[in-house]
Amino acid sequence: MVTDETPRFAADRMLMRLARWLRLLGADVITDASVGGAELLKRARAEGRILLTRDKRLRAASDAFFIESNNLRDQLPAVLAHFAIDPGVRAFTRCSRCNLLLAGVARELVSLRVPPYVFASHDRFAECPGCGRIYWPETHPRRIAAILESITHR
Ligand SMILES: [Zn+2]
Repeated sequence: MVTDETPRFAADRMLMRLARWLRLLGADVITDASVGGAELLKRARAEGRILLTRDKRLRAASDAFFIESNNLRDQLPAVLAHFAIDPGVRAFTRCSRCNLLLAGVARELVSLRVPPYVFASHDRFAECPGCGRIYWPETHPRRIAAILESITHR
């Protein structure tokens, strides 16, 4: 049963960067570079996901959201304007590469795995159970807003 009201997505292979950024904002986004849009749409439908696509042939498909721009700066705002994704709630809870939810990890365990200035300036760290990447969640809403700003208005 899905208790999470945030929409789940599948992103086609032309939208890999967008997928990574949406994951950083907390959205569940699957990608599969080995299949085309139509194939991915089938999988998305089977899993109750919305397909994000640059494929014009899928423009009119139900359960698909056509992304006009080739530029991340336009793509991300387009998705955020259309779907209920609140970066303030779930940002930095998911691995941008694996799409897996991060698990908290004790601060002392990451001291040698992150840059010293990061270790010094953050209290909380999280680790991806898939690839082992360490994240240092930006939990401050103003900081998250600044990051979004930097992508969308550069
Ligand atoms: Zn990962």
